[in-house]
Amino acid sequence: MTRPVKARIDTRALRQNYRLACGITPGSRNIAVVKANAYGHGAAIIARALDDLVPAFAVAGVDEALELRDAGIRKPVLLLEGPITPDEVGIAQEQDFWLMVCCREQVEMVCRADIRSPVTVWLKIDSGMHRLGVTENEFHTSLAALSESANTLPGMTLCTHLADAHNVSGQETAAQVGFFQRLVSGLDNPLSIANSAGILHWPATHGAWNRPGLMLYGASPFPQPQENAERLEPVMTLQSAVIGVRKIDAGESVGYGSRWIAQRPSTIATVGVGYGDGYPRSAVDGTPVLLNGSRARLAGSVSMDMITVDVTDLDEVNIGDPVELWGKSLLLGEVAQYAGTISHELVTRVSVRVPRVRYSG
Ligand SMILES: *Cc1c(COP(=O)(O)O)cnc(C)c1O
Repeated sequence: MTRPVKARIDTRALRQNYRLACGITPGSRNIAVVKANAYGHGAAIIARALDDLVPAFAVAGVDEALELRDAGIRKPVLLLEGPITPDEVGIAQEQDFWLMVCCREQVEMVCRADIRSPVTVWLKIDSGMHRLGVTENEFHTSLAALSESANTLPGMTLCTHLADAHNVSGQETAAQVGFFQRLVSGLDNPLSIANSAGILHWPATHGAWNRPGLMLYGASPFPQPQENAERLEPVMTLQSAVIGVRKIDAGESVGYGSRWIAQRPSTIATVGVGYGDGYPRSAVDGTPVLLNGSRARLAGSVSMDMITVDVTDLDEVNIGDPVELWGKSLLLGEVAQYAGTISHELVTRVSVRVPRVRYSG
């Protein structure tokens, strides 16, 4: 018997979320970000399902981009961290990978590369996140060096990344956009600023190109309800099944470390999913799960292959009953809060042993 855990991937919802991004940003082209195995959803499944809609894909590095080529994807692929070694400039030229150039060293790498035809380059500017991107002082020399190089195609996109766009009441996003706009004013290059949160909430960040990631998968980047985000449809449903049921007395404990102790005679269902599948070990007692469509609560610490759930208040629970860990009826963002993390991390950590099963809902 195979374990009952699987991640069901709704490609119709995925396409709907992509179209939502396009509808919110009618003046932009939206690059689908499929790094980290498409946020854990399966890069090949996601890229194939979006291939006819998108102008390009984005991933972290060359290995992920080559994986897309192996999956039959021919669209351009933007490498968000730029070339890591000089030979990657040549690979980019051969494979039609676009290079996000993020520092002076990468500017030199591109300019010095011995390639037969020019590559598409984006120049990334650090507007306040202080992670990647050239500084204000380096910007004009970097732009000049790349523009004059025979190795780059004209019309370079100028780009930056937002650090706080999920915080809709903060001042940081406006400050970043203001800084970026001042730096690029007078230039007629295409611009790219927005991630999912920018697309959903900050019209001033919508550029020639946007870079939606999380929203494609139907999760909200915001900790609070947000109007556009309400229209997203979850793409992944992580599901499993009950593999054991037992009754325990008040005062008896459940699981490693005896963390959960029954306050009353209780019924405990054991479910076939654990941190070895990517269900977060940091999930606290009381984290919701859906069992037979009804809410029940995690009772005891998460094991590698199993969790234990207090089903005392549910009607009848049997081995084989379906369990949803997150998905259409139990939002990822809620589970993430109980696990002290963010939606991005939960889905990205769904492990290789969990089969991704695509369907069109
Ligand atoms: C991951 C990433 C994105 C997508 O971000 P989301 O918040 O998931 O939409 C966009 N741009 C860059 C540079 C990234 O690294």
